[in-house]
Amino acid sequence: MAEIGKSRLPQPVKKNPQLKTAAPLVPPLRRSRLGLRLAGFAARGEFCLPFCSACEKAVWPPRDACPTCLAELAWQEVGNQGQLIAESVLETSPELYFRGRMPWRIGTVRLACGPSIMAHLHQQVQVGEQVEMGLHLDKAQRAVFMAYKNREGGSVNEDSRAAGPALAALAPWLASGWLCGAW
Ligand SMILES: [Zn+2]
Repeated sequence: MAEIGKSRLPQPVKKNPQLKTAAPLVPPLRRSRLGLRLAGFAARGEFCLPFCSACEKAVWPPRDACPTCLAELAWQEVGNQGQLIAESVLETSPELYFRGRMPWRIGTVRLACGPSIMAHLHQQVQVGEQVEMGLHLDKAQRAVFMAYKNREGGSVNEDSRAAGPALAALAPWLASGWLCGAW
């Protein structure tokens, strides 16, 4: 029988009042009305994009009508294979969430189903390679794209670049739509 008045819980660690408490930040929340629909697909693990059945190709960024034939678009599950055609390393960001996580790699992936999409890059991905795109929810519950070389094989957490331990610990769902201005 436990002694009355004696707590079994560990004592809370005292905080050093001299140290600054990091503000809890979330990635950027802004999305367009159509861009918000992606979060639903990301939550279900589906890779869906607006699709024109007349042209038989996916459209990105999301719109109300096909930019080629003006037909109505329907969201549809499409192939997530593509090629990384360009990459860039961000060194700074106007977003506080990302400012402490620089440098950050992003790139453009040309999907086999048609459009080119900007995405966060997994460490193993290099320009010119075939990649697989994943649709994830980030910390702000917004959909983000992430490109992998081999999504099944490698750990999505593995990122041991010399950029620092903060980056190594980042999982892609912490990544966010830094590029959300486009959609
Ligand atoms: Zn069309």
